[in-house]
Amino acid sequence: MIKVGELEFPPRKVWLKTYGCQMNYHDTERILSHLSGLNFTRTEEQSEADLVIFNTCAVRDLANQKFYSHLGETKKLKESPDINPETGLKKNVVVAAGGCIAQTEGKDLIKKYKQLDFAFGTDVVDNIGEMVYRAYAGERKFSVTSWDKTDNYSIETKITHGSPMAFVNIIKGCDKFCSYCIVPFTRGREKSRRLEEVVKDVKRLVEYSGVQEVMLLGQNVNSYGKDNGESLAQLILELDKIDGLKRLRYTTSHPYDVSDELIAAHKDAKKLANHLHLPVQSGSNTVLQRMLREYTIEHYLGLLEKMRKANPEIIISTDIIAGFPNETEEEHLATMKLLDLAQYDFIYAYSFSARKGTKAARMEDVLTDDIRGRRLREIQAKQLLIQEKIRSNMIGKTYRVLVEEKGMNKGILKWTGRSSCYRLVHFEPQFPEQDLQWNWVDVEITSATALSTQGKIINILGKNW
Ligand code: SAM
Ligand code: SF4
Repeated sequence: MIKVGELEFPPRKVWLKTYGCQMNYHDTERILSHLSGLNFTRTEEQSEADLVIFNTCAVRDLANQKFYSHLGETKKLKESPDINPETGLKKNVVVAAGGCIAQTEGKDLIKKYKQLDFAFGTDVVDNIGEMVYRAYAGERKFSVTSWDKTDNYSIETKITHGSPMAFVNIIKGCDKFCSYCIVPFTRGREKSRRLEEVVKDVKRLVEYSGVQEVMLLGQNVNSYGKDNGESLAQLILELDKIDGLKRLRYTTSHPYDVSDELIAAHKDAKKLANHLHLPVQSGSNTVLQRMLREYTIEHYLGLLEKMRKANPEIIISTDIIAGFPNETEEEHLATMKLLDLAQYDFIYAYSFSARKGTKAARMEDVLTDDIRGRRLREIQAKQLLIQEKIRSNMIGKTYRVLVEEKGMNKGILKWTGRSSCYRLVHFEPQFPEQDLQWNWVDVEITSATALSTQGKIINILGKNW
């Protein structure tokens, strides 16, 4: 039993569902860490939860739909046996919604869904303990969606998973206002943590939590430090010096803000991974203009060339939106051509979906869902052919992977890990009971298709090297 203020908190279970990007997964970690202080442990079974939390994503329609359907299903959690005569619902399960949808629609959700007890936005994640306290003190139907008005963005990274990989937020919000994107409305203005604070934070994670691989996070990490006269490149070079840290990644980058200094860091920082995710969105300059992306395809391709020169091992991935409003066939073909020119290792391609409140949602649009679907399929099919070719070059080469998990693959037990260049590699253990989780292993690639890379163990370095 834990006593906080006037309330006693017996051991309870929280069920948490996360939608969307790494930023949301990172927020989920923070939520879980705060809730452990109120005696909550996580459960994968919604039926045994005392507290149910949805961490929502508003970026595309599909994630929205999934959340509304999952929230609708929670009504049954509140039905019998313990009935509140006022609402007709079970009293003791608390249901909450946080994240991007809750930020903009919190009040409406509370009104519309009887079973929803409270909603909270993206900037109050660290106040979750206070909100849960209010709920267990008997308060219901409240929504907290205020923005943090302080100049500083100062946090300590929370991890609860016990793995050697950690997400570290370095900048929050986004000032770009790309015409299709809801993020500036759901995550607010850009604010960076101070470089000194991030370095201390990562040193602490490495020394005391066994972290070896760090992913620096932000909606636009290339804007990091602008307000403080600091930069992502400086941060990377400082983190590179930390003993015990093995690998460093960052995401997501906006091409407009990729500096020469950052490109040089890809050459100089020994721990910076051989991977860059650089979302392009479209291969057409006219579409990029309508998206308000602030760069041309020529500039973008120039960046790829410089990156590949700085680090010849680097692999590049991207995001693409198929069927932006009024995209012509010619504009779509420009994206198809870009795939040939850029030679991405993988892409995340999405069909455009109108997000309420954005400029693109107000554009008159002649495209149909069928056209969008066909263009998306064409992009994906072409990329798979390119990917197959690129990945066949991996055969015979050896990659160092950090082993994450095991699973059955066509009836055969295989372990899976990620290389520095972010490729997932599957391989068999040397004997059936061998536990390789969180070991570093050198794996020689024996076969590679567009979607799967298989290898054999060459050397096991153990959990540290
Ligand atoms: N900050 C990153 C950047 O500048 O590219 C992207 C962050 S966004 C949350 C992730 C991806 O979702 C985008 O790169 C884009 O491809 C996709 N996306 C965002 N809004 C979208 C929309 N309205 N329709 C379809 N895809 C969208
Ligand atoms: Fe959205 Fe553009 Fe900001 Fe990325 S840079 S989060 S796409 S507004």
